[in-house]
This record gives sequence, C-alpha cells and structure tokens, in this order.
Amino acid sequence: MSRRPTTWPSAGSQVVGVIGNPVAHSLSPRLHNAAFDALGLDWVSVGFCVEPTGLSDALCGIRALGLLGVSVTMPHKARVAELVDRLSDTAALLGAVNCIAHDRDELVGHNTDGEGFVASLRREARFEPAGRRCVVVGAGGAARAVVSALAAAGAEAVVVVARTRAAARRAAALGEVAGRPGTMADVRGADLVVDATPVGMTGTDTAGAPPVVDPELLGPGQLVVDLVYDPEITPLLSAAMARGASVLGGLGMLVHQAAIQLRLWTGLDPPVDAMWAAVDSALRRKIGPAAQ
Ligand code: NAP
Repeated sequence: MSRRPTTWPSAGSQVVGVIGNPVAHSLSPRLHNAAFDALGLDWVSVGFCVEPTGLSDALCGIRALGLLGVSVTMPHKARVAELVDRLSDTAALLGAVNCIAHDRDELVGHNTDGEGFVASLRREARFEPAGRRCVVVGAGGAARAVVSALAAAGAEAVVVVARTRAAARRAAALGEVAGRPGTMADVRGADLVVDATPVGMTGTDTAGAPPVVDPELLGPGQLVVDLVYDPEITPLLSAAMARGASVLGGLGMLVHQAAIQLRLWTGLDPPVDAMWAAVDSALRRKIGPAAQ
C-alpha cells in the first residue's frame, strides 16, 4: 500500500471514484479523500459523470486505467449488477451494485447500503435490530437493501409499506421469514420506522412536503430514521421529535456504506470519524446523530 508522498496527487497516485449521472453533487469523493488523508494513502477519489449508454465503456475504462474501485450511484446500480464479472451474495440478492472492487482481473460488484444502514443504527443511535419490530416505508433500491439487512441482523419483523402492494411484497420477500407487506397502521407498534422514500429531499418537488408517515402514529420509545440526509432534519424527523420519538437522519448510512467500501478497496480499517468530519463540514450538520 503506497504511502502519501510530499507532492500529492501525483502520477503515482492510485485513483478511485464514483460513477453516476448526475454526479457533481456526490459526497463520495469527499468521504473517500478524507479517509485517504487520515490513512496517509497516496490515493485520490473523483467523480465520473457517465451516461447510461456509456456504462459498459466506463467499466472497460476501470480495467484499462487500473482504477482499484468505484462507488456506483443513481441511475446505474441495477445495470452495473449485469455488467460486472462477479457479484457478492448481497449484491446478487438485491440485483444492485453500489461499489465495484477491481480485484486482480475481475470487477466484483458489492452492495454496502444495508450493512452501512445497520452500522449507522448501532453506532449512531445505539439501536440493535435483533428481536425488534421494524417498518420500512418505500420499496425501492434503498428500502430493499434496508429490509434485507434488518432481517439479516435478526429483526423479529420487517414490515414493508409501499404505494404498490406488489412492490411491497417483493421487497418484503428479501426479509425472508421476518418480512411481510403491511399498512401504515403497523407503524404504531414498531420499535423502528424507516422512511426509504425521497419525500422531503432538498431539490425535489417534495422538499418541505408533509411526511409520508402520519406523525400521530409516532411516539416515545420509537426510533424514526429518514434515509434522506439533505435536509438534515426532514419534516418527518421534525414531526417525530415533536411526538417524543428518537430520530436519525441518512448521513450515518452514507458514511458507513462508504467506510465499508473503503475497507473492500484498501483492506484497512476505515477512519470513520474523519469521514464524519468531512460530511459535517460539507453539510454543516446541526444536530447530533440520534437526537430526541
Ligand atoms: P427509488 O429506488 O426510486 O425508490 C423510491 C421509493 O419511494 C419507491 O418505493 C417509491 O414508490 C417511493 N416513493 C416515492 N415517492 C413517494 C411518495 N410521494 N409517497 C410514497 N412513496 C413514495 O429510490 P432509492 O434509491 O430507494 O432512494 C430512496 C431515498 O433514499 C432517496 O431519498 C435516496 O437519496 C435515499 N438514499 C439514501 C442513502 C444514504 O446513504 N443515506 C442511500 C440510498 C438512498 P413508487 O415505486 O410507487 O414510486
């Protein structure tokens, strides 16, 4: 593993990055570079904006240019799962890749979203999913990763609530025996409520919209998580706090899924605190991780 020289980056720097479209907003290079800095590695991370039609060529580029890995973001997660040489068990189950590791001659697709989510629950909210009743709202890519990871972590129940019953059923199946589709009424008895929809996200037409979960269903003893991290305090988290629930935003998941990718690429323990500091300064975080 090459240590960082005085002049950095240099012709000898190891390049990694993130592919997506758009990608300019991505915090991944900032997270990666903060980690490389803390580890003293001669590595650098940059964003690559890739059109869907150019995805196959982009993967050839990873091989040709000797990149050791890339993060994968929207809209490429599902297509990349079809293009890599091999998938991890989790990426194969989810049919989605958020990280490519260039391992010798092979491009290996991983998905670290669910593991990052559970790591954030444990580290930032001191919440252990084993034996707990969980509700996940939404049935898209992030919801599917969260359902699968909660079940793998031993949750007693993982109930999926979505606009389409068929999508809820498909996502719930990833929770195996713990998974089932449900309704908003399930929120009332849940220990953990996860909003895995983009509702409330800055820059979308739902920014500032009412939460997808009726706050009347929330109360003390519950942890409410919004996977959205911009804004840091979404209307759902604000309403949940007013009802006495504990809350957690999506930044922890972002940091931990990136930290796991760093470990895959470097084989080193990721400097999670340095990565948190990088997103703190990027987003000027205002609340503690598990506020009440
Ligand atoms: P996605 O695949 O497009 O899925 C979005 C889900 O939300 C779908 O089930 C969709 O339902 C549902 N939905 C959208 N608008 C809704 C509304 N108004 N009411 C009810 N349900 C609605 O997106 P994704 O990749 O799963 O991402 C979801 C959110 O998680 C995004 O905000 C993303 O930024 C965030 N995320 C965060 C992290 C992190 O590290 N913190 C990681 C991944 C994703 P339909 O199918 O019926 O439209």
